[in-house]
Amino acid sequence: MAERYDLAVVGAGPGGAATAYYASKAGLRTLLLDRQEFPRDKPCGDGLMPHAASEVALMGLGDWLDEPHHGRFTSFSMYTETAYLRQGVPPTLHGPHGYVAAREETDARILGRATAAGAALHTNTRAMDLVRSTSGAVTGLEATSNGETLRFETPIVVAADGVGGFAGNGMKAHQNAVARRQYFRGLEGLDQESLHIFITPDMNSDGAGYGWVFCFGDGRANVGAGVSTRSLQRSGRNLKDYYDRFLEEPQLKAWLRNAEAEGPVKSWSLKMGMWGAKRYARGLMMVGDAGSMVHPISGEGVGYAMESGRLAATWAHEAHERRDFSASLLSGYERQLRKKRAREHISGHAMVNLVPNLRMMEPLFKACEKDENARRTLIEGFTGDAPIYSLLKHPSALGRALRIAVNQRRNGVG
Ligand SMILES: Cc1cc2nc3c(=O)[nH]c(=O)nc-3n(C[C@H](O)[C@H](O)[C@H](O)COP(=O)(O)OP(=O)(O)OC[C@H]3O[C@@H](n4cnc5c(N)ncnc54)[C@H](O)[C@@H]3O)c2cc1C
Repeated sequence: MAERYDLAVVGAGPGGAATAYYASKAGLRTLLLDRQEFPRDKPCGDGLMPHAASEVALMGLGDWLDEPHHGRFTSFSMYTETAYLRQGVPPTLHGPHGYVAAREETDARILGRATAAGAALHTNTRAMDLVRSTSGAVTGLEATSNGETLRFETPIVVAADGVGGFAGNGMKAHQNAVARRQYFRGLEGLDQESLHIFITPDMNSDGAGYGWVFCFGDGRANVGAGVSTRSLQRSGRNLKDYYDRFLEEPQLKAWLRNAEAEGPVKSWSLKMGMWGAKRYARGLMMVGDAGSMVHPISGEGVGYAMESGRLAATWAHEAHERRDFSASLLSGYERQLRKKRAREHISGHAMVNLVPNLRMMEPLFKACEKDENARRTLIEGFTGDAPIYSLLKHPSALGRALRIAVNQRRNGVG
C-alpha cells in the first residue's frame, strides 16, 4: 500500500527543508524526498545575507550561525573598473551582519530542523512524476530508490528540486546564468569581515557577471565567479575561462599568493529573476530555485528559497483547512510572493536585461563612490534590501553619473 501524506516535498535543500519544517510545525504529515544523501555539497558562494540569516535563525539555528568557524561580515567591498565602493551591511531584523557558512553544513542543519519537526525524510530517492486523477487533481507522486519504484499518496506537492527536472513541464524557466567556485585556505591581506565583490571588465563586456571572495572564520575562503549565459553566447568563451581570468585579477592574485586550493572547483547553473517561471498549479507549488526565486542581480537564493518555502507551507496548510487544492486557491502563494519580492525582481531583471553590459554602469559606480546615501542604496539593490530603482531618489548622484558618462565619451573612454 502507498504511504499517505498531507504534503510531499521534492528536494531537501534550503527551500524544501524549510517547507517541510513549517508544514510539519503546522501539523501536516509531511514527506521530504531527496535524490542525494546528506550532508551533501551544493556549489554556492556560501553567503547568507542578513535576510537569509533571519530565515535560518527563525528555524532555531541562530546560535549555530554564531559559531566561530563561520564567516561573519559587516560590510561590502565592491571593486569595479573605475570605482571602489565600501559600505556597511544595511540594518535588518537580523542586525548589521551576515554570515558565510558552507552549504554542506548549512543544508544538513536546516534539514535536521525539518526532521526534528516531524517530516519523514527519504534520501537517495528520486521523485519521477506527479500522479494525477482523471480529473487532473494531484493524488500522489512516483519515485525511485535503489531501482525500486515507490508510490506516495498526497493531494499536494511542493517542488523544491532546484535546477532538477522533476516538475519541469511548463513550470520552470530556462537557466540564464552559470557560476563556479573553489575553496582556498590562507588568503592574505584582505578584510575578512567584508564580502568582496569584483565587477571586472572581463566579465562585463558582453553581458553581466561578477566575482567574489567570501571568508569563513576558519581561514578558508570561497572564491567564485558567475556570468550570464548571454555573456557565454556573445563571447564564445566558457565559464572556466572567465573564472581562470578572474583568478588573475591583480588584487585577487595578491591575496591568493600563499593560498592553497581545497577540494574540487565546482560549477552550477541558475535562473536569476522571478520572471518566466510558473510557481503554482492545481495541487502544486514551486519553491526556491525551482520557482526562479534567485535574486536577479546578486544571484543570491538561499534566503529566498527558505522564505518561499515558509510561505508555501502556510498555503499547503490553508489548502488542507479548506479541502481545496485548486490552482485558484494556491494562486494566493504567488500573490504573496510577488507582493513581497516583485519590485526588486522586476527592476533588477529589467536592469540586467536592458543594459547590454555592466561596464555601461561604471559612471554610476563612480558617482556613488563618494556619495554615501547613493552608495548605500546601490548596495541595497545588490543585497535585495531595496529595488534598484530606489537610486532615482538620488538625483545628484545620477546627474554626476551622467556628467561622468558625457566626459568619458568626449575623451573617448568606455
Ligand atoms: C556558484 C553559485 C554560487 C551561489 N552563491 C550564493 C550565495 O552566496 N548565497 C546565496 O544565498 N545563494 C547563492 N547561490 C544560489 C543558491 O545556491 C540557490 O539559490 C539555493 O541552493 C536554492 O536552494 P533550493 O533549496 O531551491 O535548491 P537546491 O539547494 O539546489 O536543492 C535542491 C535539492 O533537490 C534535490 N533534487 C533535485 N531533483 C530531485 C528529484 N527529482 N527528486 C528528489 N530530489 C531532487 C537535489 O538533490 C537538491 O538537494 C549560488 C548559486 C551558485 C550556482
